[in-house]
Amino acid sequence: MAAAFPRKGRVESVKVWLRAKGRLPRFVAYSTQDAPLSVLKVEFYGTDTAGEEFTVAVGFGADASRLDATDVASVQDAVGRFGLDLQVTDVAAHDWNNDSYSMNTWAVFRPGQLTRELTSLQQSHGLLHFASGDIANLWAGHVDGDRERAGSRPGCRGRTARIRQPQTCRNRPR
Ligand SMILES: Cc1cc2nc3c(=O)[nH]c(=O)nc-3n(C[C@H](O)[C@H](O)[C@H](O)COP(=O)(O)OP(=O)(O)OC[C@H]3O[C@@H](n4cnc5c(N)ncnc54)[C@H](O)[C@@H]3O)c2cc1C
Repeated sequence: MAAAFPRKGRVESVKVWLRAKGRLPRFVAYSTQDAPLSVLKVEFYGTDTAGEEFTVAVGFGADASRLDATDVASVQDAVGRFGLDLQVTDVAAHDWNNDSYSMNTWAVFRPGQLTRELTSLQQSHGLLHFASGDIANLWAGHVDGDRERAGSRPGCRGRTARIRQPQTCRNRPR
C-alpha cells in the first residue's frame, strides 16, 4: 500500500462552502482539472434575518494552493470560471491539509495509480482485506466509495442490495 501511494509529492485538495445571493437553481458544475475549483454543487437554501433568500453550495478543487478558500473574492473568482452568474457573500473552509488529525483530504490519484495498482489493492490476502473507500471502483475518495467497498467484503460480493446495507453482510456465511 505504501509503495502504491507514497506520501512524497502528495496532492493537497481543497473544499469550500459558499453562500450566494438569491435562490439559484439546483446544479452540479464541473470544470477542468487545472481550475481552482473543479466541482461546484448546490446543497441548501435558506432565508436570512432580513428575509433575503440565499443558496449554499459546496466546491472541490484538486490543488489547495490555487485557492484561498477563506477569502470571498478568491472564491468568487474561482466560481466565475464556471461561467456562472452568482454573487458569493460568505465562505467557510477548514485547512484539512495542515490539520494535525487529518493531515490531508480525500484521495486524489495520480495518472497511472489506479490502472496500475487498483486490482491488486482490491484483492484479499488471507485474512487481510482492504476496506477503504479509496480503492472503490466508482466514487473512490467519496463516502459512496466507502459503501461500495463495505459491500465488497467476502461473502457480500455481487450483492447490490447489501451495498446499500453493508451491515447485513456481517452475519452471512461466506
Ligand atoms: C476534508 C474532507 C472532505 C470530504 N468531503 C467529502 C464530501 O463532501 N463527499 C464525500 O462523499 N466524501 C468526502 N470526503 C471523503 C470521505 O470522507 C472519505 O472518502 C470516506 O470517509 C472514506 O471512508 P473510509 O471508511 O474508507 O475511511 P475513513 O472514513 O477514513 O475511516 C477509516 C477509520 O479507520 C480508523 N482507523 C485508522 N487506522 C486505524 C487502526 N490502525 N486501528 C483502528 N482504526 C483505525 C480511522 O480512525 C477512521 O475512523 C471528504 C474527506 C475529507 C478528508
